[in-house]
Amino acid sequence: MNIDTRCVHAGWEPEDGGPRQIPIYQNTTWYFDSTEHMAKLFDLEEAGYFYTRLANPTNDAVAARIAALEGGVAAVLTSSGQAASFFSIFNICSEGDHLVTSSALYGGTYNLFAITLPKMGIEVSFVDPDATGEQLREAIRPNTKCVFAETVSNPALNVLDIEKFATLAHDAGVPLIVDNTFPTPVNCRPFEWGADIVIHSTTKYLDGHGTVVGGAIVDSGNFDWDAHAEAFPGLTTPDDSYHGVTYTERFGKGAYITKIVAQLMRDLGSIPSPNNSFILGVNIESLPLRMAKHVDNAQKIAEWLEKRDGVAIVRYPGLPSDPYHALAKKYLDADGGCGVIAFDLKGSAEQATTFLDALKVISIATHVADARSCVLHPASSTHRQLTDEQLVSAGVTPTLIRLSVGIEDADDLIADLDQALSSVL
Ligand SMILES: *Cc1c(COP(=O)(O)O)cnc(C)c1O
Repeated sequence: MNIDTRCVHAGWEPEDGGPRQIPIYQNTTWYFDSTEHMAKLFDLEEAGYFYTRLANPTNDAVAARIAALEGGVAAVLTSSGQAASFFSIFNICSEGDHLVTSSALYGGTYNLFAITLPKMGIEVSFVDPDATGEQLREAIRPNTKCVFAETVSNPALNVLDIEKFATLAHDAGVPLIVDNTFPTPVNCRPFEWGADIVIHSTTKYLDGHGTVVGGAIVDSGNFDWDAHAEAFPGLTTPDDSYHGVTYTERFGKGAYITKIVAQLMRDLGSIPSPNNSFILGVNIESLPLRMAKHVDNAQKIAEWLEKRDGVAIVRYPGLPSDPYHALAKKYLDADGGCGVIAFDLKGSAEQATTFLDALKVISIATHVADARSCVLHPASSTHRQLTDEQLVSAGVTPTLIRLSVGIEDADDLIADLDQALSSVL
């Protein structure tokens, strides 16, 4: 079925006389008649529920919905997008291992990779997303266990050449993990281009209403762990903490996600509340309608900004002038991909903040990908500790503005931008 139908129906098949909507299983534990029944669940011999940290029917239904949208075989929800990034890597990397990542990353992911993973003995190499295949290959080491990148990066809006990165990973015998948060499966399905694992910050468009922080990890089931068994012993050799289960042998294409649930969720937690998953599941129903409106509005506004006096550079993959327009045409269903625009004002950093303060409909927020339009001036907020020189090397100019276009009326948003620009320039 098409994605609009999957957004509404996937993950939950009501029984005769059963609840039509995914119900909220707001319980921590399950009841058992016999110790034997429970023991089978603990040995992973039988599928079933016993404790919400490991699995919960509401969480599972919403995870299955996201797996269906991406075209994956299995998925797990996490308490945040950060937890999804971390678990997707920690499931196959441990002390002494290495990963290669595109340098065009969300700030939180950058910190995780540059500071926290090295503390755990996992080395990370950052590569230019636009590097040649040859330059990328030089970053691979014998202990490399995965390649990571964002399909449309936050906030730089670089569109990933997914096939190039997938080839790099597969030639090295490792999976490509991509963060598909910005385009969502409505506008990009990375598995169709060779990515092996997709992660999401569901906090963004999948929720889309600024209500619940969450994440998801989806496995395509395509990466052959057994063909590279020596590199991935956690999946291909017996797990002593689960009575000698070998995940690939017992769970086949479900091995990677089962290991996250059985091992990482058991030991590290980070599950979402079933209540939050319920809200996420409901909000996903309207994802295709919202994404179409986000992209339409952003395209209109990007085109208007490009012509407006006082605006220096506009970055939006849907603009023919954008350096990533060709990649957007190839990989994204709607060229813009999402509702996020980056632009530079002519003038000073002070004028940029005055402009933000003058906005009335569009609000100042450290959030993106929401029904409500919001705006951020990185130089005076997320990057305010940096000098002008450091800002430039981080790709953040003093007058850069990140605008997340919502689902309001585009003309109302343009009128708001226009009056705020007129007040400073
Ligand atoms: C927000 C974001 C994250 C982190 O997600 P949280 O839900 O805030 O933990 C990861 N990747 C991208 C691309 C994001 O935009």
